[in-house]
Amino acid sequence: MSRSDELFAQAQHSIPGGVNSPVRAFNGVGGSPIFIERADGAYMFDADGQRYIDYVGSWGPMILGHNNAAIREATHQAVDRGLSFGTPTANEITMAEKIKFLVPSIEKVRMVNSGTEATMTAIRLARGFTGRDKILKFEGCYHGHADALLVKAGSGALTLGVPSSPGIPEDFAKHTLTVTFNDLESVRQIFAECGNDIATIIVEPVAGNMNCIPPAPGFLEGLREICDEYGSVLIFDEVMSGFRVARGGAQERYKVLPDLTTLGKVIGGGMPVGAFGGKREIMDYIAPVGPVYQAGTLSGNPVAMAAGLAALTQLEDEALYPGLYAKVDRLLDGLQALADEAGIPFTTNRAGSMFGFFFSGDGPITSFKQATECNMAHFRSFYHSMLKQGVYLAPSAFEAGFMSAAHSDADIDATLAAAKVAFAALK
Ligand code: PMP
Repeated sequence: MSRSDELFAQAQHSIPGGVNSPVRAFNGVGGSPIFIERADGAYMFDADGQRYIDYVGSWGPMILGHNNAAIREATHQAVDRGLSFGTPTANEITMAEKIKFLVPSIEKVRMVNSGTEATMTAIRLARGFTGRDKILKFEGCYHGHADALLVKAGSGALTLGVPSSPGIPEDFAKHTLTVTFNDLESVRQIFAECGNDIATIIVEPVAGNMNCIPPAPGFLEGLREICDEYGSVLIFDEVMSGFRVARGGAQERYKVLPDLTTLGKVIGGGMPVGAFGGKREIMDYIAPVGPVYQAGTLSGNPVAMAAGLAALTQLEDEALYPGLYAKVDRLLDGLQALADEAGIPFTTNRAGSMFGFFFSGDGPITSFKQATECNMAHFRSFYHSMLKQGVYLAPSAFEAGFMSAAHSDADIDATLAAAKVAFAALK
């Protein structure tokens, strides 16, 4: 029995499912998870001493690689000054100014502790600002686990929202309408029915929670037009895409500006952080200036601000990005060539440093439905072969992959050599 297996067995006794976040339990791929002891650059090392080339990057934050020297140093210095004060600090202003500089649509920003908090509050703010209750989201988009957002549609676009988890009252869920990602017509239809009651459209501008699905041409522009027509607030959830698909996120890459943006992951450099920001007149609706309440004992925590600032300061250098994109191309073009050579139906998606691959012969994957129809048996087999060969991919076919600045061409070539073996085993 490996040390990871022992730890997982032990964890079951005191932690539900042995994990503190469900997807870590390997339910999507079978088998038991590996327990990590430390990480450095492009690599993670498990409790058995095995090294993995890591394409998960703590689910996104590690865009500069694990254990980045400047982030580590800034964090150590902050720890020496004290862990939390519950008062304003100068670094919070620096953080707000940096985010405003980097993210095109943000005029004011508030720090929170997770992506979930950011989206939950952005929704409350949009509702308070518009005086409307209904919200619109897209099937397959994940925005954290707040009640209003843990909802998927029943059949038909206008069906009242049905909770996708017990514990969410139907009375809450009924205000959440769910339509089809990349299908502007489904959005137009629902707005024609009840657009004047819809407070907000919330969308992952590059979907990263149903594998990786970029927006179809015109999709984000269409959402912007519809929100303008009906006076609804457009929220881009850039918790994943922010600072990843371009330095200024999806709004910079696709040149569509939302009213509010939610951020997380990268802005904490690995510490627990989230943020929401946007137009001044909407942001000034939040307490203490405005009537919509939101607060947080540890929000803007000095250690988290130090880590996040050290990350964002490095990301200000736009020269970093072309290298990241080229590495994604090297990996995905290599995987496609190997799959083609092995005769395995396979296709890939990419947006900046986010990527996805699909065991499907259906050409480009642009919808949630297509993503769910891929060959899951192939994915599981490929996954475990890669893991055994020291490549750590997201343990689910419905998660995006992440490239970091620390991955070398040699790491990618080693990944492709492992993939050749994994594809051959599928034949
Ligand atoms: N929004 C998106 C787009 C996400 O990908 C996630 C988490 N993966 C969240 C929100 C929630 O963030 P957190 O896990 O920090 O609460």
